[in-house]
Amino acid sequence: MKLILLGPPGAGKGTQARLLADEYGILQVSTGDILREAIRDGSPLGQEARPLMEDGRLVADQIVVGIVANQLNAKGSEADWVLDGFPRTVPQAFALEAMLNRRGAVLDAVVSLEVDDSAIAERLSGRRSCPACGLVFHLRWNPPRTVGRCDRNCGPLVFRPDDAPGTLLRRFAEYGLLTAPLMPFYEKRKLLARVDAVGEADVVFERIRSVLGES
Ligand code: AMP
Repeated sequence: MKLILLGPPGAGKGTQARLLADEYGILQVSTGDILREAIRDGSPLGQEARPLMEDGRLVADQIVVGIVANQLNAKGSEADWVLDGFPRTVPQAFALEAMLNRRGAVLDAVVSLEVDDSAIAERLSGRRSCPACGLVFHLRWNPPRTVGRCDRNCGPLVFRPDDAPGTLLRRFAEYGLLTAPLMPFYEKRKLLARVDAVGEADVVFERIRSVLGES
């Protein structure tokens, strides 16, 4: 199974990708997580990505395509995966298509997580993450065992800086301009499956399973 999860910030891509990876035993590749880890490590990649991410802008196509190519190459062409947060532009989608063609691999589905603005606002305002290990919580739907602390005992949880209202506006603008064109791109290839992503994570997950023909 080779899947892509598409959706605006706050659609639940990370949560659903994790559930899919656990359920089907496939690899989860999250470009956002990889970039945040690079920032935590202070690597050259992190130093390049940091100002863009803090500003709510996308990192250059060439960089993220390289990240995904490394991840997929490391696992070999037989591996199954779910991509969360990639592709985010049409050039990235073409690069992925070329990567798959070279390996003789086929994309099974592109799941578009569809949410309304109020659900997004609720999810993002309650989202808290651990700056040390990257684990993500929600104050209401997935609270940590101890208020304000990571379940892995890393330390205090934080509000993701790029979820702040000003930065978020830019992320939505980038989404509308650069990522939304992926819907017709994959619709044309008869790969797009739209899923109502409003509701609790396990309910949304069942809807995804159902469009994938797995229920
Ligand atoms: P996410 O965790 O998926 O919301 O991504 C957080 C940030 O990482 C985005 O706002 C971008 O700055 C950067 N990023 C993640 N994935 C990509 C991508 N495929 N292309 C460009 N930038 C990305």
